[in-house]
Parts: sequence; C-alpha cells; structure tokens
Amino acid sequence: MSIPSKEPYDPLSAQQQANPADFRDHIGTADKKGYRQWIYAKKVDGKWFRWRTWMSWVLLAIMFVGPFVRINGNPLLMINIVERKFSILGQIFWPQDTFIFAVAMLVFFVGIMIFTTAFGRLWCGWTCPQTVMMEMVFRKIEYWIDGDAHEQRALAAAPWSPHKIWKRVSKYGVFFVLSFIVGNTLFSYIVGSDKLFQIITDDPRNHVTGLTFMILFTLLFFAIFARFREQACTFICPYGRFQSALLDENTMVVAYDYKRGEGRAPLKRGQAPEQRKAGGKGDCVNCHQCVAVCPTGIDIRNGVQMECVNCTACIDACDNVMDKVGQPRGLIRYASLNGIEKGESLKFTARMKLYSVILTALITLFLVLVFTRSDVETALLRAPGSLFQKAGEGRISNIYTLRVVNKTGHDIAVELRLLNSEGTVKVLGAGEFIVPKENSAQTSVLIELEEEDLDGASTHLEIGVYSHGKLLETVKTAFVGPRK
Ligand code: SF4
Ligand code: SF4
Repeated sequence: MSIPSKEPYDPLSAQQQANPADFRDHIGTADKKGYRQWIYAKKVDGKWFRWRTWMSWVLLAIMFVGPFVRINGNPLLMINIVERKFSILGQIFWPQDTFIFAVAMLVFFVGIMIFTTAFGRLWCGWTCPQTVMMEMVFRKIEYWIDGDAHEQRALAAAPWSPHKIWKRVSKYGVFFVLSFIVGNTLFSYIVGSDKLFQIITDDPRNHVTGLTFMILFTLLFFAIFARFREQACTFICPYGRFQSALLDENTMVVAYDYKRGEGRAPLKRGQAPEQRKAGGKGDCVNCHQCVAVCPTGIDIRNGVQMECVNCTACIDACDNVMDKVGQPRGLIRYASLNGIEKGESLKFTARMKLYSVILTALITLFLVLVFTRSDVETALLRAPGSLFQKAGEGRISNIYTLRVVNKTGHDIAVELRLLNSEGTVKVLGAGEFIVPKENSAQTSVLIELEEEDLDGASTHLEIGVYSHGKLLETVKTAFVGPRK
C-alpha cells in the first residue's frame, strides 16, 4: 500500500508541525486526507549519529564486499532461488537440505523475537540495510546536493529554473547510479558474483532474463530511495508491524522521559532551570528539534509509535538542546517504560527466558544437522521396470540408477562398495564417475551377487559411497532375485 502523492509537495505542511492531539488519526507522513507529506529531516549531529556512522561504514563494506568473499571456494552468502542453491558462510545448501534451512529460519526468527523483546527495534536503527542506505548514503548525498531541510523546502517550493533542474538532475542521477550498484549487489547475492560478471561481460542476447532483473532491481531501489523512503519501513517491512506484539514495558526503546519533560514550555530568556521547576514546568522546552530531525515524521513525545525506527536522531537533537539550556542529557534516551516510570534497569523477563531456552535448543539442533551433514547426497534406485538378470556361473545382477549431488566447492570422484555382502559393483560409463562441484550427476550401476548369498526375492544391501578411499555416505537399497 502506498500513500497517494500530491504534487507539488507542500513544503511547509510537513509533519514538523504535527499536532500532538491528532497524531493517532493519521500517520506522520500523510495528512488527514491521506496525501503524502514529504519529510524534510533536518541534519543531525551527536554522539549516537557518529557511532551509527562508524557502524554504517563497517556494514556497507560487508554488504558490498560480501558477494566476492569466498570460503572453501563458495560464496559467503548466496540465496539462489532460481537454481534452489544456497550458500551460507561458505556451506552450500541444496533443496535436499530443506530441513536444515527450515531450522536456520526458525533460529533466525526466534532470535529476532528475543532480540526485539529485549532491545526493541535496535536492528532497524543500526543495521537494517534500508536505514543504513537511506540515512547514511542517500540522505547525506541529498544534504550535499540540496542542502539542509530548510534549503530542501525552499528548493521544492521554488519555480522550475536552470538551477533547480541542475540540482534535480544531479541528485537523481547520483541516486540512479547508486541504485544500480545496490541493485546489482543484491542481485549478486542471489545469482552469485561469477554469474553477475558473466551477465555483464557476455553477449546480452544470452542473458535477457538476467539483464531484465538487473534493470528491475535498479528501478526498484531508485524508487525506494528517491521516493518511497520511510514508507518502506511503515507499510512494507513486516518486522515493524509485528514489533508491537513483542514489545513490553521492559523493552528498551528510544523513549521520551515524560516524567522529566512534561510541563513542556518554551524557555524564557534568562530563566534558570530551578525557576522553571518552581513554576511547574518540565525540562522539555518544546523546541521541536526532536521532530525536525525525525526521518519518519513523528513526535517521539507521543510515546512509542509504529513508525519509529529507533534511529537515535531525536536523542542527539534533544541532547544538543539540553546542552544549550544547561539541563542534563537524556530527556530522550534508550529506556524501557519501567525504566522511565520506576527507574528499573533492563530485566531478563520470563518471556525472554522461555524464548532463550527455545533458541538454545534450535541452535543446538542446527549445529548438529550442519556438522553431521554429508558432502554428498546419494540416491540409488533400481532402474524402472527392470528385473534381475542371470549373469552366469550362479550370479544374479540388478541394474540401478545412481544420482549423486555434490554439495562441496570441488569435484568429487565417486566409487561404490558393497558393505554387507560379497559381490561386485560396477559404475557404468567410461572412466571415473566424477560429480562436478555444486552440481549433480547421474549414471547407471550394475550390482552382481552370488545367487546363494541372496535372502530370497529381495535382499537388503548397504552400499558405501567413497571418494579416494574415504567413506562419504552409506545408502541402502534392495536387490531382487529369484524366489527360493
Ligand atoms: S528536542 Fe527535547 S526539548 Fe526539544 S521538543 Fe524535543 S524533547 Fe522537548
Ligand atoms: S522518533 Fe526518534 S528514533 Fe524514532 S524514527 Fe524519529 S528520530 Fe528516529
């Protein structure tokens, strides 16, 4: 769902003048008629912003370098939905590993639940790629080209002129190039960097689908960062929507200390903090700086709201104001409701304990599954419609179809050995049976047993799948013979 956009933007109607009385009647980025109100978030500086900037450099480096990092020859992270092939920390997972993948997803979601219950939307403010790219890359470029919030408003309100056209072309040109880079980075996490390189360098006619996706991803990210922006967090992201089910009075969020701040009133010239207190006034000087810097257009003094991505901009803005008026910092800070109301510190609640037990069990199961996982996945099935053959000298043969999936980053030469019976196993075809890396191969196999060794019409066989003398896996199959 998207809010209809009203052109031209009314630059002075921004939510920076949000009315605290009607904030629950409409979201911060729309007026009461449902028209989009463009956010002109003011530049902010402060302790938290500087920490977030450092954090974003690290995350951006990981994000852009990630597709090129390989462990054991496999990508650090690759989610190839098309070929149903996944690589996590260099471990290749196949459709046959669905159970492991499902457990990994459970670990991820339960981890999120615990984390959100304790720390609210810390993820959104500090590590979410949408917030990092929007606030630390695209927003900064916007400040660099268009100026701070008041200059952006003035530019939006100004009639079209060569100056305005130049500004718009430069900004959206840079946005488009960046969207192309971001889109291709995401695409390389899906198809792998090798494939992306092949698509870029090969004859375009051979990669029409790949090129189409490259263009679509570019346009998608351009739309998100140039126009959609905070609406992606408010309307699309499911995490933001279910956080309200996870937060409780002990959850740490970006919060306004209403006990200290209320009785909000502008600061009178020369008024000392003690005089304000004596007059029944709180520490909030009602300067609206916390609202002016908010990228989602809300007033944090109205309490925890769905739109808040915990970006900490309002903490920095308010701390700067508190420094100027000679009051202690922290009127807006990381705190829980109980922290503000009762001065309690963060608690390990019963709900968090329960989630932690479940999470520990899931992580243990996941590790066991990963470390006991075989490098190959073998299926040995009797060739459809085939019966046994008499091979002479009292020997009986059966023909099978062998399919081996190689989950590793190197080719594997496969040989089979009978484990629970005397007899011979012949992998048919010329030369060694080699299964290419990250791929599968199929061939036919002939097994011959002495008739006297058979248990009757069906004999249970255990067969070892070996590579260079090392047992990789054991498979079971049935060998048919004449009734006794
Ligand atoms: S920045 Fe601080 S003092 Fe100013 S309105 Fe916001 S909470 Fe009040
Ligand atoms: S209310 Fe504060 S923390 Fe929440 S999104 Fe706005 S500026 Fe960021």
